Amino acid sequence: MEQLDEPGFREGVDLMFNRAVALMDLSPGLEEKIRVCNATYIVRFGVRLRGAIHTFTGYRSVHSEHMEPVKGGIRYAPEVDQDEVEALAALMTYKCALVETPFGGSKGGLCIDPRDWDEHELEAITRRFAYELAKRDLINPSQNVPAPDMGTSEREMAWIADQYARMNTTDINARACVTGKPLNSGGIAGRVEATGRGVQYALREFFRHPEDVAAAGLTGGLEGKRVIVQGLGNVGYHAAHFLQTEDGAKITAVIERDGAVVREEGLDVDRVREWIAKHGGVSGCPEGEHVADGRSVLEAECDILIPAALEGQINMGNAERIRAPLIIEAANGPVTYGADEILRKKGTVVIPDMYANAGGVTVSYFEWVKNLSHIRFGRMQRRQEEAQNRMLVTELERLSADQGLGWQLSPGFKEQFMRGADELELVRSGLDDTMRIAYQHMRAAWHGRDDVHDLRTAAFVVAIERVAASYRAKGL
Ligand code: GLU
Repeated sequence: MEQLDEPGFREGVDLMFNRAVALMDLSPGLEEKIRVCNATYIVRFGVRLRGAIHTFTGYRSVHSEHMEPVKGGIRYAPEVDQDEVEALAALMTYKCALVETPFGGSKGGLCIDPRDWDEHELEAITRRFAYELAKRDLINPSQNVPAPDMGTSEREMAWIADQYARMNTTDINARACVTGKPLNSGGIAGRVEATGRGVQYALREFFRHPEDVAAAGLTGGLEGKRVIVQGLGNVGYHAAHFLQTEDGAKITAVIERDGAVVREEGLDVDRVREWIAKHGGVSGCPEGEHVADGRSVLEAECDILIPAALEGQINMGNAERIRAPLIIEAANGPVTYGADEILRKKGTVVIPDMYANAGGVTVSYFEWVKNLSHIRFGRMQRRQEEAQNRMLVTELERLSADQGLGWQLSPGFKEQFMRGADELELVRSGLDDTMRIAYQHMRAAWHGRDDVHDLRTAAFVVAIERVAASYRAKGL
């Protein structure tokens, strides 16, 4: 939580925006137009549950409609409020612009603790919320397309998609009204892992630039790097799992609601995740040592800190004590504006949320395109690619035999080379490409301009410039 003397979340995002626009040449009118949130719809609706009517408060905020549909998740959390939803909607605008997904920014929230309700009740609540939003076109394939966020998952998205389809029985594109759906309801392979995967691709790209690695006071690659993860939910788990199993990083601590589990030699993330699923937290987890004050572990020594939980976790109260030289914001807004100032002065490199967690919306974009094209990626070309590759291999083998060259293709090569890419591989490839290119644009601003000293300002400059160009092209 942010300290009392700190600006709130939305104000913090605006201040970060202001710091970037101060370096840009935008007319004051345009600057204001981009900064403000276009509209926030608040709905209070009743659902009859457990023999009584319960009233719920929900929000859908549209920050910028320079491109439509607008995009952004729906979160279920007790502390959701207008300020938070508007801050998150603004971040979506900049995020989409930075990774070049053709969307404006939006976000939704429902004040609810999902753990208080069983599945049937949550379905009734979700369907009613979806109804309220859809009837005002705040869920609509061409206007506003929600996705999962904190407290929601594939399950809620399937209910939302079905609710929309019931209300729009002749809309052939109904499935494109929401992303993050399960595969059997029009989802796409690789969406669940996408945000965590994006964090991994972001780090891989960062470590491809020795100059940037040196700016964080680090050397080498991801292999052996000590990583602390806060929040082992969908994003934190996938990021940690892939970094550990594919890049050789060591997850030295996992911080959860009820404390942290720490092991200097590296935890087995999958076993920690299984423990949490069974016991609801890390308390008693035999994989490492338990630290009751989980938040203190944010300050522990490590190479990379991944806050993947709530906003405001690194604030003016603890920023000075953070020892990680590199922070990658897997959550939205985990570092407050005030903390950002302190970290920048200390020389900590922060890979900002707007970029770091954009993997989710990137794959949402692929899902939306899949829904509109009504065909799975790779369906047309996969076997044709395989046939082409087989021809090449067969021809090489024939040449080798004819000429008596005795060439031997290495074991496994033939199968690997011949295989055409399936949807998951294509999604990962598209995500990897997106994360690499966006990083390169960001770092070009970071290193190419004397007045940009950090990646967050660089990200804002790139994103705002694109939104501004879009408004200018419209003639605003
Ligand atoms: N809720 C995710 C985010 O904050 C995903 C949004 C989306 O896929 O539209 O980026």
